[in-house]
Amino acid sequence: MTKRIAIIGAGLAGLAAAQALSGRGHEVTLFESRNRTGGRAGSFTDAASGQVIDACQHVSMGCCTNLAHFCRVAGIDHLLGPQRTLYFMTPDGRVSPFGPDYLPAPLHLARSFLMAHYLSLGDKLRIAWGLLCLRLTSPQADPPFLDWLLTHRQSQRAIDRFWGTVLVSALNEEPARVGLRYARKVFVDGFMGHRDGCVIDVPTVPLGALYGDDLLDGLSRKGVRVRLGEGVRAISIEGGRVSSLEMRSGEHVTADWYISAVPFDRLLGLLPEEVVERYSYFSDLRSLEISPITSVHLWYDRPVMRLPHVVLLDSIGQWVFSRGEVAPGEHYVQVVVSASRAFRGLSHDEVCRRVAEEMARLFPGGTLLRSRVVTEHAATFSAVPGVDRLRPPQASPIENLFVAGDWTRTGWPATMEGAVRSGYLAAEGVLARMGRRVRLVRAELHAGGVNE
Ligand SMILES: Cc1cc2nc3c(=O)[nH]c(=O)nc-3n(C[C@H](O)[C@H](O)[C@H](O)COP(=O)(O)OP(=O)(O)OC[C@H]3O[C@@H](n4cnc5c(N)ncnc54)[C@H](O)[C@@H]3O)c2cc1C
Repeated sequence: MTKRIAIIGAGLAGLAAAQALSGRGHEVTLFESRNRTGGRAGSFTDAASGQVIDACQHVSMGCCTNLAHFCRVAGIDHLLGPQRTLYFMTPDGRVSPFGPDYLPAPLHLARSFLMAHYLSLGDKLRIAWGLLCLRLTSPQADPPFLDWLLTHRQSQRAIDRFWGTVLVSALNEEPARVGLRYARKVFVDGFMGHRDGCVIDVPTVPLGALYGDDLLDGLSRKGVRVRLGEGVRAISIEGGRVSSLEMRSGEHVTADWYISAVPFDRLLGLLPEEVVERYSYFSDLRSLEISPITSVHLWYDRPVMRLPHVVLLDSIGQWVFSRGEVAPGEHYVQVVVSASRAFRGLSHDEVCRRVAEEMARLFPGGTLLRSRVVTEHAATFSAVPGVDRLRPPQASPIENLFVAGDWTRTGWPATMEGAVRSGYLAAEGVLARMGRRVRLVRAELHAGGVNE
């Protein structure tokens, strides 16, 4: 029998849930308060230039199997550019390429690692020992990762130039604040698990185009109604069930099943206060911590970088992406600073000055034409030790309400992969309650192939 399913939020979690539930004979409607899809993975039009730019460059890895599946089904996977080599640069301008070779996992990165100019032989031996021990720890253990690193005899340089460099980008958090569980996931599942796990996918178009019109056309061909610019003001609950969605327009929308795919602070604002108080499932969300990301957008009068991207060590910037000539005589570069708490209290001009100065030292020659700083204060939740105790599963205590979002319990940190997984899990839950058991979540990558 046809059921009505209302999904709130057209970020990747909501889009993935809609895609997974489409074409199954149900009426799926997706409500999004903004006039665009993609949520945090989105673009905006820069008023100064009229150019569409990403609020922040997003990348994914080969180990993101659900995101890859989502993009394949949506027909947008050709808009991802795989980068098999990462370039690590020290402040003296020296670069070491890092990427898999022909050896099987976990040895596929050994050669790059041994050649890295920025680590001493002693550090490399310590790190290799640390990686081996990390592989042998339980995937569930979650003590403070920095304590674990020190117990396993990692030097400050190994922490700064290896462990910290990778973690701050992958988890948007400093090693001193993360738990072992998600650090292990990054190194063991992401880098060591499979030869293709560490291949980085960089979109070749702005995120607004990647998760934009083609994706929406595909969804509407499969019968999904996407209502942009239609925000939900409140979720009304009666007798332990959602009775309706109160829209900002004043309209009341009813459905058989509801999926909330909005950030956790927004969900708390949509639910009646007494419901939040009654269930720790919701009230625990108040204890989730957040971490900011800053992106600095720079336009030069000529190409300043020869490489498509670099990962900076011992620097203010962490990733630098060269996006090429975006307008005649304008060469666009984006510098990303994750866990950017050090910028708190600084003006945009000051942040830009520091980053541009560093860029001029590392990539001399160009004249800076324009710049722009974007900070997302609640970019992701912090993967602090024990964070999964606060992350709820997708089935909520409200009978006909499921919850999706990168912050729900997915086994993944706050990433596009985590968001898509959460959408698939919520869709699995709704279908299961209707009596249809379907496995939508894709298997993880493991050495030798894709396994469960
Ligand atoms: C600066 C930055 C850089 C990042 N870099 C990366 C990266 O490189 N790689 C990676 O994998 N991840 C990255 N992430 C994380 C990634 O963007 C998120 O994990 C993912 O996009 C979250 O998707 P989501 O659907 O869970 O939430 P969101 O994207 O937040 O989507 C929620 C949607 O709900 C809508 N909404 C909110 N309230 C309402 C309402 N009342 N009614 C209707 N709609 C509503 C919002 O407008 C939004 O569209 C980054 C995040 C940021 C902020």
